[in-house]
Amino acid sequence: MLRLILLPIIIVVWCTIGITQTNIHPTNPDVIPIWTGDYDPTDYIPSVGIADPDVIFQDLVQSLKPDNLKDCLIEMIPFHTRHTGSDTLSNTEGIGAARIWAHQKFESFNSTNGERLLVSYLQFDQEICSMGRHKNITATLPGVGPHRDEVIIIEAHYDSRCHEVCDIECQAHGMEDNASGSALVLELARVMSQYVLDRTIIFMLTIGEEQGLHGANALAQYCEDNDINVYAVLNNDIVGGIICGETASPPGCPGLNDIDSINVRLYSHGFIDSPSKGLARYVKLQYQDNVRDLMTVKPIVNVMGSEDRVGRGGDHIPFRERGYSAVRFTSANEHGSADTSDPEYHDRQHTEEDILGVDTDNDGVLDSFFVSFSYLNRNAILNGNAAISIAMSPETPTLESLDLTHEGLRVTWTSDIDCPQYAIGLRSETNDFDTLVYVTESPYFFKDLSDDQFYVVSVSCVDEYGIESLPSNDLFTFDAISSVQQVTQSHGVHLLQNRPNPFDDQTTIAVMVDQEFDYDTAEITVSTAQGQAIYTSPITLGKGINTIQYTHQSHRHQDGVYYYTLSIDGLPTETKTMVYAY
Ligand SMILES: [Zn+2]
Repeated sequence: MLRLILLPIIIVVWCTIGITQTNIHPTNPDVIPIWTGDYDPTDYIPSVGIADPDVIFQDLVQSLKPDNLKDCLIEMIPFHTRHTGSDTLSNTEGIGAARIWAHQKFESFNSTNGERLLVSYLQFDQEICSMGRHKNITATLPGVGPHRDEVIIIEAHYDSRCHEVCDIECQAHGMEDNASGSALVLELARVMSQYVLDRTIIFMLTIGEEQGLHGANALAQYCEDNDINVYAVLNNDIVGGIICGETASPPGCPGLNDIDSINVRLYSHGFIDSPSKGLARYVKLQYQDNVRDLMTVKPIVNVMGSEDRVGRGGDHIPFRERGYSAVRFTSANEHGSADTSDPEYHDRQHTEEDILGVDTDNDGVLDSFFVSFSYLNRNAILNGNAAISIAMSPETPTLESLDLTHEGLRVTWTSDIDCPQYAIGLRSETNDFDTLVYVTESPYFFKDLSDDQFYVVSVSCVDEYGIESLPSNDLFTFDAISSVQQVTQSHGVHLLQNRPNPFDDQTTIAVMVDQEFDYDTAEITVSTAQGQAIYTSPITLGKGINTIQYTHQSHRHQDGVYYYTLSIDGLPTETKTMVYAY
């Protein structure tokens, strides 16, 4: 029997569709043709740039700098708060000063990298904490290959808050939540804007996350309305903390205030066949393939079961809700349930205490930090590596069928392009692959699989540089049963109606076969209306009509309806009913 696996499914109530946002548009109209793929790529091929994948991965690991991340965080402290409803007039404090600063950072990377990073606000109108107009900050690196109309988004929210959701006055440094993610996105834009990639990358800092994912929703809605082909979304929210919180998701955090500087948690929506979970697996696999060996400290990437931490949501969700694949990176510092109605509620993020660090010796210099710049840097490497891999990846094949045959589980796929190799992933009980096999052509047979295990299969194209496509659709071994039925039908294997029927003592059950085919065992099983098997007989299946005689044990089984089933190689293929009437 095939067993259904039950993973914990957490129903998250976050939903952004239906929010009233108007006038969503980029303030720099030059980015519009880039986002839709309607431009001449030669305009964005640099005179000096890095295009070789191996060189890019090495450069990424060497060029991303913990010290730059630290400097970036320190520069964000003087804003006092980055609350979505805070001051927009001051040049030094509040959300307005913060977004001008981030815009200028992106612009400086543009000018040092051959004017290839197009910077724009994404502006929208919506009433949030008495503020009516809001701006995400975006920086777009145009792709120069045939898939330049497909965009990859690396995002983090730059707004912050205190306990009260509309408190615009309190100090809200929001260093972990989410200056950490903002610094990561800025540092990636600095380093990656020198790379020459096939697909387009949008680096984005979002507003209004803390009041309901509003900034991310604005871009997701804009993409949907303007047919922008969003290929993948990487969301970074609380990605620098290594001090375990009270409710840190396992693995890696043994207890409160222990240190976990190794585990990275990748949250994504859906059950076993979700594209977002496929993206999370891809992020992990590409890390292992491309950059793990280059890193001194090697993170452990965990593909988590749920879309976000219990009771929480993030900026990946508005994209997933519109059918785009999206994942969230998060660190160990999870604390509390976010239930502000609970009088015992306390939180590490949405307070005045979410600061960068403390001055332990009173010399005016911070010397103990709550954000680990090395851990944050490793997260930046994981993000950059994933985005680069996706940006250079070949087209994804289509998994056509799984068939249970006497040679094993046959996996058949098609591809629009010729791939030097295909990677076939087999999964059973976890979100990770049990096995990945690399083969050159379809089909492939998995042999010696367990009969009582449920399997999920996907396939990827691997190009000449060893870069894999995003994984295909998933198929299950449940599907394989029905395709065995299709195979027997394609060979003209028909279970015929018994004769006579109704019957009073004996009846003949017949199977007609149009074409010889290979099999190991075939049998007819008779069962009661309640599903209890009362009789089994082998049957030989040659070309033509094949029969068995069934004698009913009338002293044991009463009048009524019975079922008879043909099974081939242990798998039921067809069932019919017959009536015993004495
Ligand atoms: Zn956050």
